[in-house]
Amino acid sequence: MSKATELIHSIPVDPLTGSIGVPIYQTSTFVQQAPGVNKGYDYARSNNPTRETLEKIVAKLEGGAAASAFASGLAAIDAVVKLLESGDEIVAVDDIYGGAFRLFTKIYEKFGIRVNYVDTTDVTNVIDAITPKTKLIWLETPTNPTLKISDIEAIAKVAKQNNLLLCVDNTFASPALQQPILLGADIIVHSATKYLGGHSDLIAGIVVSRTAELGEQIKFIQNASGAVLSPNDSWLVIRGIETLPLRVEKHCKNAQIVAEYLQTHPLVDQVFYPGLPSHPNHDIAVKQQSGFGGVISFTLKNDTEDAAFKVVCNTSLFKLAESLGGIKSLLCHPANMTHKSVPVEKRRAAGVADSLIRLSIGLEDPEDLIADIDQALQRVHAHTESNNYITASI
Ligand SMILES: *Cc1c(COP(=O)(O)O)cnc(C)c1O
Repeated sequence: MSKATELIHSIPVDPLTGSIGVPIYQTSTFVQQAPGVNKGYDYARSNNPTRETLEKIVAKLEGGAAASAFASGLAAIDAVVKLLESGDEIVAVDDIYGGAFRLFTKIYEKFGIRVNYVDTTDVTNVIDAITPKTKLIWLETPTNPTLKISDIEAIAKVAKQNNLLLCVDNTFASPALQQPILLGADIIVHSATKYLGGHSDLIAGIVVSRTAELGEQIKFIQNASGAVLSPNDSWLVIRGIETLPLRVEKHCKNAQIVAEYLQTHPLVDQVFYPGLPSHPNHDIAVKQQSGFGGVISFTLKNDTEDAAFKVVCNTSLFKLAESLGGIKSLLCHPANMTHKSVPVEKRRAAGVADSLIRLSIGLEDPEDLIADIDQALQRVHAHTESNNYITASI
């Protein structure tokens, strides 16, 4: 059976009523037959049938034993860090999601958890960063916004040899393109806000565990800390997942076309897209992903904030907004938006140039998307010499 067929039929028909849609159990508590005797549910923070259905669907989709759904991607990341103890260390990808960096440094450092950031595209950097205190390796692949790819299988071997957990943030690829547990990872986290939800209409997160034992530990943390996903939002994520393979296939096709167009544009300098043979990690992407995703970043030859602003403020189909993975195309200027809190020199060193623009390619016709970027890029050309400044307006 194909993956798409399997996915669609992993969404159960309600055994009670035959409802083809998953019921939304909008309740806080469940009536017990006698103290401690119930139908498998007692209080909705601990377990809710709608949330549980979503968790089972995503566990299966990722090839894991269990999953737990959270109120945001960051709450999911937070739950994984809570597996650690004071004194433990994490080796993490240096190009990490800004919110994860903030959580690690501003919250967990004061509880005695240290993080070593390394360029994980080279496995030897990971090996060199491991100390006797290391307990967890944290990967994101592809990364945001320069789409670096790390070799999950090779790093999973290193984790195993050193008795460490490997967690992969699989938000950008989604399980439609990459299944880290099948490549040796122990834990996967998702911002389901992005491709799993797919419609830019909710905030949600998921942790998937390779083993039932790890799944139990995460479930304990989910209940103990309490950042659970609501029944309504659980239902919306299920609704999104129903069309995940279809949407992601089109996101990839569109992105490849737009990336190839950008690569030939005279005003564009570098294009970051794992589907281009010129991408430094293209070979690993081909090995571990079945498609290259819907996110593209590019820089301008006129590497200034002014030039980038002219592009991001003059598109009409591409909306200026943070986030990605929805049906409508979005664009953003990382230096002033997602990466604003990163010090300038550190940001530039990480490849987030002043003119870097990130695109989240939606499901529109690719020719329309190209026409939209093309007319916005022409403004850069027209104003490069006069250095005419256009202020951002959202
Ligand atoms: C958005 C995002 C997160 C955080 O998820 P929220 O749902 O916004 O809390 C984590 N990791 C990556 C890669 C993301 O893109």
